[in-house]
Amino acid sequence: MSNNRFNGKFVQVFTEMNVTRRIALQRIHILFRLAKETIHEDPKLAQRYVKVARKIAMATKLRLPKQYKRLVCRHCKSFILPGVNCRVRIQQRREPHVVVTCFCCDKYSRIPLRSRRNI
Ligand SMILES: [Zn+2]
Repeated sequence: MSNNRFNGKFVQVFTEMNVTRRIALQRIHILFRLAKETIHEDPKLAQRYVKVARKIAMATKLRLPKQYKRLVCRHCKSFILPGVNCRVRIQQRREPHVVVTCFCCDKYSRIPLRSRRNI
């Protein structure tokens, strides 16, 4: 009997966490969409949207979805959109890789092309 109750509580806590994360993920999607839409008109607002999205991810211990990870500078954590405030170049020398240069902090990050795990 007591074992059952424990399991019930555990399941309840577990599903509550899932609901929280689902809502968090929805909001991250919304915030990134808004950031992409507003970066041309109001870059500061776009940065704020992404800052909030990252805070939500951190608070709920969620990882930013893959497609958004590349839109955040590894160094200064600002929102970078190719053609707007970052430069994307393919580099064939040594290991083929993509170089993303952030215009906010002038630093670059490399994305290897041959590795199996996608960043
Ligand atoms: Zn940067």
